[in-house]
Amino acid sequence: MERILESKKVLVTGGAGFIGSNICEKLLAQDNEVVCLDNFATGKRVNIEPFLSNKKFKLIEGDIRNLNDCMEAAKGAEIVLHQAALGSVPRSIGDPITSNEVNVSGFLNMLVAARDNGVKRFVYAASSSTYGDSTNLPKVEDVIGKPLSPYAITKYVNELYADVFAKLYDMQIIGLRYFNVFGRRQDPDGAYAAVIPKFVKSLIRHESPVINGDGTYSRDFTYIDNVIQANEKAATVDNIEAVNTVYNVAFGERTTLNELINSLQEYLSDFDSEIANVEIKYGPERAGDIPHSLASIAKASELLNYNPKYNIQSGLKEAIGWYWENLK
Ligand code: NAD
Repeated sequence: MERILESKKVLVTGGAGFIGSNICEKLLAQDNEVVCLDNFATGKRVNIEPFLSNKKFKLIEGDIRNLNDCMEAAKGAEIVLHQAALGSVPRSIGDPITSNEVNVSGFLNMLVAARDNGVKRFVYAASSSTYGDSTNLPKVEDVIGKPLSPYAITKYVNELYADVFAKLYDMQIIGLRYFNVFGRRQDPDGAYAAVIPKFVKSLIRHESPVINGDGTYSRDFTYIDNVIQANEKAATVDNIEAVNTVYNVAFGERTTLNELINSLQEYLSDFDSEIANVEIKYGPERAGDIPHSLASIAKASELLNYNPKYNIQSGLKEAIGWYWENLK
């Protein structure tokens, strides 16, 4: 992989999570000093275990809802890559208060901590859920609809705070609206698991995966390495025109859930041929789900020089060995 962000002091919040731990791993391989702030709400120790012996890695077990924890973590950081949040639309529908406390108050704490510690660049995980009920395809950054869940509100509020902090306090901030990220270390378990690891785990166990709806809903599934690249580019871009805005981070193609399942069955059959015969079940649609999601990545390509290397098929092929080893 291309080395983009090197020899810097970087704070990764949510660094024990799926995306955060993958970012930490890449940054450590490129001689960065990495501080990880995480409270293990959804992150896992096993995700960061290999880094603990690395002198350039420091774990701060703390909570972004606590300003002191954020201040301690941001001390000396040149760059913040803020990933910590409670993900999942259904989780936020079940418990909107906690999602708001973590995703909004925690975000505000991190902005204040970055401001007060003179952080040079603050890059944060925004979300495609901000497109809400807009039916425009592909999604372009300037055209959003009304939020469809508490989670979507929290992620949109992040963008509003980011914009105001950039203007009021002369900070450099970039939001990355991730679209359905997948890859190694994504948690397959629990009620709020993402669809790819959940389906993979069911298929490996010969249990029928349940698709919400008729399987024609589509998503712009984005492989983790594309997301890492976008973070590195956002952290290092010099062009001031590219800063203090938001970008779609996706591949720019959409895949239906039926197509996704077909590909998973095909690739997993190389390990166990019975998987091709597992029956697929269909259940009711889920509240807060939008039918189709597809990003325009033109803005990120132009201003960040973002150039995603993996489409869904090559991403799944990269990840499939990890899934087999870790989810069986
Ligand atoms: P994840 O749950 O694996 O990671 C989130 C991390 O944040 C976990 O390690 C968790 O323990 C930590 N965390 C949660 N609450 C915290 C708190 N109060 N204090 C400190 N740490 C806390 O999820 P992920 O998929 O890696 O998501 C990372 C970010 O990307 C999140 O902000 C999420 O909203 C955003 N995002 C993810 C996707 C996706 O498809 N995975 C899509 C859009 C946006």
